[in-house]
Amino acid sequence: MSDHEKPTPLFNDVCLPFQIEGQDIKGRVLRLGPSVDEILSKHNYPDHINKLLGQTLALTAMLGSMMKYDGILTVQMKGKGPLRMMVSDFFKAEKSDKGIIRAYAGYDEGDHQDYSLEELFGEDAYLAITMDQGKYMDRYQGIVKLLGTNITEAAEEYFKSSEQLPTKANIFCQKDKNGKWQAGAIMIQHYARNSEDDIDRDIEKTQEDWNTASILLSTLKPSELLDVELSLQDLLIRLYHESGVRIFSHTELGAGCRCSSDKIRTALSGLEYEELKEAAEDGIIKVTCDFCTTEHKFELTKLLH
Ligand SMILES: [Zn+2]
Repeated sequence: MSDHEKPTPLFNDVCLPFQIEGQDIKGRVLRLGPSVDEILSKHNYPDHINKLLGQTLALTAMLGSMMKYDGILTVQMKGKGPLRMMVSDFFKAEKSDKGIIRAYAGYDEGDHQDYSLEELFGEDAYLAITMDQGKYMDRYQGIVKLLGTNITEAAEEYFKSSEQLPTKANIFCQKDKNGKWQAGAIMIQHYARNSEDDIDRDIEKTQEDWNTASILLSTLKPSELLDVELSLQDLLIRLYHESGVRIFSHTELGAGCRCSSDKIRTALSGLEYEELKEAAEDGIIKVTCDFCTTEHKFELTKLLH
């Protein structure tokens, strides 16, 4: 291969699908840099919440980029503990190459930084993943009990109970040496075979392949997955060089929000006059977007016409 044919190395804010050569294993790897830092920096959450929300963003981007059609994928975790909710979504518009992500959390102040994920969310906690691909497919929602000490375990539990495919994942979020947030995720799935030829292949070898790939994935450290000097392609080669790895076209990722003054104005105009008056301060109604913290302002008198 000559130099100009080499694919551009991918480092940050990108998700890369891959397949292990000659095996029934597909996966994806992603790294979030400026996008996750922008999202978390806008909110003023404590670091233990930032870490979980950053991991949730990585999971959301990984699943969102798997959608066949453009649409919205939402990951929601809710419970009755001190961390009441985390919501994150991925949006890809038609004719756009980029997946846009955003997130927020709702929590009670307190000394909870040593709590596990289950302890933070408390009783009756659940994880819901919703996929809305508009006109192309029916809306899909999978809901499972939120289990596990961290987001990786919660995600694996989700796959175990709501999808048929065996899945292994590894999800991290931390600050780099400059204090900027970064997140990363990798997952592999063992997919089913379709044709008879495929089924005839050695079952024992297939199981062995899966075990090896799973072990290799679990050895990946945060320092490797989040190493911004190591391209995602090189990371995959390093991890699965023995079998070889095939790489597919990537999805670029970025931070963004879909809130707009027009949408909020429409929602507000559906309210009763008394409710609007109640919400107004000095004739102004302020609505803050949970996701991006933008404050939208409306004059009461203008809403009434
Ligand atoms: Zn917004």
